[in-house]
Amino acid sequence: MNRIAIIGAGVSGLTMGRLLATHASVTVFESDSRPGGLIKCARVDGNLFHTCGGHVFNTRREDVLDFFWGIFDRDRDFVKADRNSVVKMPDGAEIPYPIENHAYMLDDDTLRAVIADVAGMRAAGSEPANFEEFLRKQFGDTLYRLYFGPYNRKVWRRDLSDVPLSWLEGKLPMPAPEEILYNNIRRVKEKAFVHSSFYYERQGGSQFIADTLAEGLDLRCSSPVSRLDRQADGGWLVDGERSEDP
Ligand SMILES: Cc1cc2nc3c(=O)[nH]c(=O)nc-3n(C[C@H](O)[C@H](O)[C@H](O)COP(=O)(O)OP(=O)(O)OC[C@H]3O[C@@H](n4cnc5c(N)ncnc54)[C@H](O)[C@@H]3O)c2cc1C
Repeated sequence: MNRIAIIGAGVSGLTMGRLLATHASVTVFESDSRPGGLIKCARVDGNLFHTCGGHVFNTRREDVLDFFWGIFDRDRDFVKADRNSVVKMPDGAEIPYPIENHAYMLDDDTLRAVIADVAGMRAAGSEPANFEEFLRKQFGDTLYRLYFGPYNRKVWRRDLSDVPLSWLEGKLPMPAPEEILYNNIRRVKEKAFVHSSFYYERQGGSQFIADTLAEGLDLRCSSPVSRLDRQADGGWLVDGERSEDP
């Protein structure tokens, strides 16, 4: 049986470990003393903390859902919550998320600008080349200036024109101009967009996901990998240990 080394017991390494363990002998090396990476949690004075920021589970991908609910029990292990966010406007008004479906709540000047943007979007033609262009073409310059630009620059901490379009696929709501207008006229609050609902773990926060994924894996914690050597026959030495039997 092939041996496969995975470096890092974050959610990616643990998931790959699970997927590959059915047809290979997998070892996961983790430099930290426990699995989880960015989704790690810690208890301080009995209280649970997401040490790198809060995490929730959501996806629209059926294959990911099948994998996930094949391991976890939706009702026993998780609580489902609907997103209930608002966007605070410069004038203090609070517009529910997603902002493009609640344009009818904007002040008159802003609403007129958004309508002009949306009406012009059909004529815009060419494919966007990057994330910034995508947001401008998708939601118009007004909503880009007021919300999508500042919000996404804050979250991703980079020039949005440097973010390639390939990164976007399946991650963001992509309503057509007709949909935006329809949703506003009909006042559709829209619960089917990408991040409209989340699953929270009932116990242990996202550490519960990491610990459960790690169950049954050959996981070596406190084992930072510092050296990889490619062998003449195509195998690898991971810190001197052979990862694949010839
Ligand atoms: C604040 C914040 C909130 C987020 N919220 C969400 C959310 O709600 N839902 C969501 O789906 N995603 C969310 N994300 C994204 C999510 O955290 C990441 O996509 C995901 O955790 C990445 O997992 P990973 O396994 O690829 O990497 P990591 O979690 O970074 O894991 C990498 C692991 O590799 C180990 N490692 C590194 N080098 C070595 C080495 N040489 N030897 C051995 N081990 C090594 C590290 O110790 C670490 O454990 C959020 C991210 C942030 C920052």
